[in-house]
Amino acid sequence: MKYLPLFSILIFSFAQCFGQKGIFTLPLHGQQGIDYFIDNYPDHDTSKGIRDPYCGTKTYNGHRATDFLIRSFKTMDSGVYVYAVADGIVFSKRDGEYDRNKHMIIGRPCNYICILHGNKYYVYYNHLKNGSQLVKVGDRVKQGQAIAQVGSSGYSPFPHLDLEIRSMNGFGFIDPFSGPCHGPTYGLWLNEPAYDTGLYLIDAGFIPYAPNVDTLKERYMVKDTFCAPTDDTVCFWAQMHGLRKGYRIHAEWYGPSGLLWETFNYTWPLSTWNDYSWTYIPLPDKAGRWELRYFVNERLITVKPFYILPRKQNAHH
Ligand SMILES: [Zn+2]
Repeated sequence: MKYLPLFSILIFSFAQCFGQKGIFTLPLHGQQGIDYFIDNYPDHDTSKGIRDPYCGTKTYNGHRATDFLIRSFKTMDSGVYVYAVADGIVFSKRDGEYDRNKHMIIGRPCNYICILHGNKYYVYYNHLKNGSQLVKVGDRVKQGQAIAQVGSSGYSPFPHLDLEIRSMNGFGFIDPFSGPCHGPTYGLWLNEPAYDTGLYLIDAGFIPYAPNVDTLKERYMVKDTFCAPTDDTVCFWAQMHGLRKGYRIHAEWYGPSGLLWETFNYTWPLSTWNDYSWTYIPLPDKAGRWELRYFVNERLITVKPFYILPRKQNAHH
């Protein structure tokens, strides 16, 4: 304990020396792990490998920015605002580009706003929703001011904000986080979000068809009540944070009165921070309250009920 004061002074001097202190507020509101998720940090490995500022792998090769994800396109449609991280002047922008991309297609232009903050940092707010921008070039913006909404324009597989910070002095990209695998410690956030590598559920539900990732990203026909002959399939899907290669997915389908109807097992093929798994069955002919129990590595992640109505006798008469 007696070393603490000296240690603190050293950290303070180091930060002073680089002129760095917490100055930026977060570009999205809400709670991390619920309203937004950071899935890609800047990559600090200059070779083919990857290393995020916390010495982990929450990045991809050559990534210079930080990706703040939101849950889905449905969430995007509800209007998720992006806020200026500091006072500044709008330096450049682009709008008018398609904003519902679901795959990384190189060369797709993105809607963005670039703000010059404090004559020191250019901050790019990338992948914005088409037509959502609230500022124009030359405008002065205040820290915390809403400037646009999250979208999926450009090189983007789901709605997210890619926040890229560049130094005005031409030193390349700047990582605002303060992890130990950083090189010089920046720590530019006033309230730095926690480094989150947890395994947890982002969202889950049921749909009446065998899906693909695109339909799940759109949340097509999510519901929890099914009925023949309109429906012939019940599919459970789970959007998970932190699935790693080799994790064991297990699901149990229970009918009314607790009957185990079907089980599903799958070994997760690759490490991803935000991905979907699903399992489906033909619509059973037993009406009542059903239940799906979803496990990863034998840990119960969620229990979700769904309902099967008695068959519509007169539907097509
Ligand atoms: Zn990005």
